[in-house]
Amino acid sequence: EREDLAVDRWVATTCGYCGTGCGLYLGIKGGRAVAVKADPAAPVNKGHLCLKGLYEWKILDHPERATVPLRRRNGAMEPVIWEAALAEVAHRFREGLATGGPEAVGIYHGGQLTLEEYYAIHKLAKGVLGTPNIDANTRLCMASTVSGHIRSFGVDAPPGCYEDLDVSGLIFIFGANPAEMHPQLWQRILRNRKLNGARIMVADPRLTLPARAADLHLRLRCGSNIPLLYSLINVLIKEDMLDKDFIRRSTVGFEELAEAAAAFPPERAANLTGVPAADIVAAARLFGRSPSAVTVFCQGVNQSCQAVDTVTLINSLHLVTGKIGKPGSAPLSLTGQASSMSMREIGGGGSLPGFRNPENPEHRRQVADYWGIQVEKLPRRINDINRMLEMIEDGKLKVLWVIGTNPAVSLPDLGFSRRQLEKVFLIVQDIFYPMETAAYADIFLPAAGWGEKTGVVTNSERRLNLVRRAVAPPGDAWEDLAIVARVARYLGAEELFAWKGPEDAFRELRELTRGRPNDITGVDYALLERKGGVQWPCPEGGRETPRLYSDGVFPTRPEEAQGYGAFNNPEGRARLWAVPYVPPPEVPDEEFPFWLNTGRIIEHYHTRTKTKRIPELQALAPEAYVEINPRDAAQLQVVEGEMVRVVTRRGWVEVPARLTEVVAPGEVFIPFHFGDLDPGEGRKRRAANLLTGRFVDPLSGQPRAKAGACRIEKRVPGN
Ligand code: SF4
Repeated sequence: EREDLAVDRWVATTCGYCGTGCGLYLGIKGGRAVAVKADPAAPVNKGHLCLKGLYEWKILDHPERATVPLRRRNGAMEPVIWEAALAEVAHRFREGLATGGPEAVGIYHGGQLTLEEYYAIHKLAKGVLGTPNIDANTRLCMASTVSGHIRSFGVDAPPGCYEDLDVSGLIFIFGANPAEMHPQLWQRILRNRKLNGARIMVADPRLTLPARAADLHLRLRCGSNIPLLYSLINVLIKEDMLDKDFIRRSTVGFEELAEAAAAFPPERAANLTGVPAADIVAAARLFGRSPSAVTVFCQGVNQSCQAVDTVTLINSLHLVTGKIGKPGSAPLSLTGQASSMSMREIGGGGSLPGFRNPENPEHRRQVADYWGIQVEKLPRRINDINRMLEMIEDGKLKVLWVIGTNPAVSLPDLGFSRRQLEKVFLIVQDIFYPMETAAYADIFLPAAGWGEKTGVVTNSERRLNLVRRAVAPPGDAWEDLAIVARVARYLGAEELFAWKGPEDAFRELRELTRGRPNDITGVDYALLERKGGVQWPCPEGGRETPRLYSDGVFPTRPEEAQGYGAFNNPEGRARLWAVPYVPPPEVPDEEFPFWLNTGRIIEHYHTRTKTKRIPELQALAPEAYVEINPRDAAQLQVVEGEMVRVVTRRGWVEVPARLTEVVAPGEVFIPFHFGDLDPGEGRKRRAANLLTGRFVDPLSGQPRAKAGACRIEKRVPGN
């Protein structure tokens, strides 16, 4: 906050970075953004912001904002007028459809757009192009939670809310680092500890800030989530710390789960995880005996081996102890991007709007009738980005539209992924130029960003918040909604996008949620403005819902069970699953002796498209690095700051060594934010995803970026 700034007006909006969804004001002076201040009335952050939110205004008006459409001619990108660029986009789509059918075209978008923009993009993909090739970068982020929730609860409706963090007796942080990724939630956890004496327990291979602050740190090995969770359930059963009444009334599958957990007594789990058996028992007792517990989880779960199985077991941990649907008790998955949850609501992640099942004929008919299209047009399943890349490799997918994301840095196995971006006819839509993915573009479309458009973003606790247009986009940049609608017009589907603005799109989508688990028919922009956010479901004439499943009834009806057909729970009971334990596909060996872990740091966001352009953030974290335990460094004869080469079976990077106890011996960590194209710098090989593999979770398609094998080489000068 800059109190000395006499701004003309403060515009209430929501932070555009992480999925916490903090409320803030954007200060405008002379038509330009000049400051941000926290909103003291915002229910999420109550007057506080983290570093990223505080400097968010600096991306507006930045000199590298993209301002004109570009088209590649003779290898170089040249300015082109909008209508020519859009006509070519539509022509390429038509040509692809004519020669290769719906599978020849595709869209891949980010998780920072608005609910209305996602709705428009998916309507265009599924209802106009009729293509199954529609996915988002949330595939890299929380796809496993989506699948895990569908498996456990019937639909992807997360049970808990942030208030649970304020009142719970135990916060179990599993594969998450809220101190760096969701700082305002970490502050709420610390306040609970200070005011109410809440206990904190952490399961993480790294000695993160939460791990250091925890009452108990379970320092498990990379790739060993499943044995740890099974062992916790094993002790809960053995020591009779269950809610048997809840199990009987509200779940099915307990016997199978108990049998599977019996194979993981603490002594065996200790061997598999590296966590002492006594700590596993202590952790189970902490969880079982606490009157309430929240399990906060994020990428250490979602990007891990057997990620969906891990989510399922976390849900089961809460179900067998009845710690769900009550104040202070819930599994709470955190989303990394401002509106990842919005993406899930509109039918991203493989469903249709309103969490409809695309394999259910009645659900398909409802959507097709509402859109006024032939039901056959709607794809029955989607191809995720992994499949899309394979289809490019096979010559089947020919035209790809990338909107608001940077796959040339964020996708795994970049050597392979970048080859596909090179091959396909690539349309890139973004707010900055240059950026790594735009280097592969045939057409580049400049888009409006946060602060320049209005719409809804839903945070991790199902809270719909408004982001507002406070300034005009720079140059000739357009709002994403307008770009999608204009492409639809060129494709002859103008009437499907006849909205005057985002609120019309919101009203249309809202109707599709009527009677569905995410019913928002009781919400409009005026209510969001008045209340500062509303948690779904909020049906017409009803109220918002901070906490789900309070009655112990779950939407596990057979007709909802997308791709997980084992449901037959007309009584609405949650499902406990006996998941298998499959050791990681790649483990350290003689040639690659270290575990490679990748992740985020507080200063940066995703591939730094925005944060590298904010001098204050960039100065704090200007360069990639590899964390190495000092014991390993001594053996390798590597000193602090020395450039080393990190090598996997996929590729190598060169980064300085950071010697730290944060990583255990035998494990190394690299932040994934850094690409190789920073303005003013030469090309660098430092993108962590040059190292990661195309190992994906078989149920969610989410890449396993948290556990691979690597070696560290001292750099040979001149090599
Ligand atoms: Fe923005 Fe997340 Fe920081 Fe809040 S915690 S200010 S939403 S980045």
